[in-house]
Amino acid sequence: MIDVTLIGTGGMVPLPERFLASCLIEYNGKSILIDCGEGTQISLHKGRLSMNRIDTILITHCHADHVSGLPGLLLTIGNQGRIDPLNIIAPRGSTKYLNSLLVVCGYLPYEIRIAELHDTKPQQFEQIGLNITSIPLKHHINCLGYSLELLLKPRFQPDMAKKLDIPVKFWKMLHNGNSVKVDDKTYTPDMVLGEPRKPVKVSYVTDSRPVKHIKDIVKNSDLFICEGMYGEDEQHDNAVEKMHMIFSEAATIAKEAEVDELWLTHFSPSMSRPEEFINYAAGIFPNTKIGKDLMTTTLKSD
Ligand SMILES: [Zn+2]
Ligand SMILES: [Zn+2]
Repeated sequence: MIDVTLIGTGGMVPLPERFLASCLIEYNGKSILIDCGEGTQISLHKGRLSMNRIDTILITHCHADHVSGLPGLLLTIGNQGRIDPLNIIAPRGSTKYLNSLLVVCGYLPYEIRIAELHDTKPQQFEQIGLNITSIPLKHHINCLGYSLELLLKPRFQPDMAKKLDIPVKFWKMLHNGNSVKVDDKTYTPDMVLGEPRKPVKVSYVTDSRPVKHIKDIVKNSDLFICEGMYGEDEQHDNAVEKMHMIFSEAATIAKEAEVDELWLTHFSPSMSRPEEFINYAAGIFPNTKIGKDLMTTTLKSD
């Protein structure tokens, strides 16, 4: 199972109840932080969430509201005695911006490993046991969303294994996808495994205009976290100019991608009560929630 917590849900300017963009994904004792806007370490602290378990920081793009919390967070992790390397993964062209932020950290007792991803085609990679796909977005600078999936093995069916007289000591090998030979008989995993299982999936998209391929990559997510910079449809032209989305655009992606649940985030500071505009999204995709700092859920397999 995967725990997902919104750490900061503000866009551009932090507010007392909304720090800037950040989201924590925890799995199997480790975590991935997506973005690190101003206030991230304070919000993590408020939520009693471990900073030292962060293995990787995925950066959507190098606008200040997504990266300005990095130096403070990295210093705090250093003060906690970390020695294990920490990965930062970001779109092409980000390294020079990230390195300039790291300058103010001075000495860190652990290594920072920065990797850049392609900004125009999706890439797949693995971190902390989760399969991650980057989502090229349309913003003022190179920007990526991310889909994170926990792949699940089909369930082992002991009844089938017993029927075939397969000794118990070979069950695990079969469940792990290996064939086994007992006496003269060969048993293959398909003989004892159930149907393929849908991965547990969470997707995170900010900042962007809607682009066609987002829905393909976030398809069937259990949870889709998407920016909703502006609530009202009347803000459409403003969203186009600023390269952001209005609520109804995020909800349309959620509907077309057939996700289970949509959380809106990255709200304009001009919108002090985004919940007042929820019907612009919920009218299109009913299972929509307005994101709040430290809002959390556990995604489980069926
Ligand atoms: Zn932003
Ligand atoms: Zn931005």
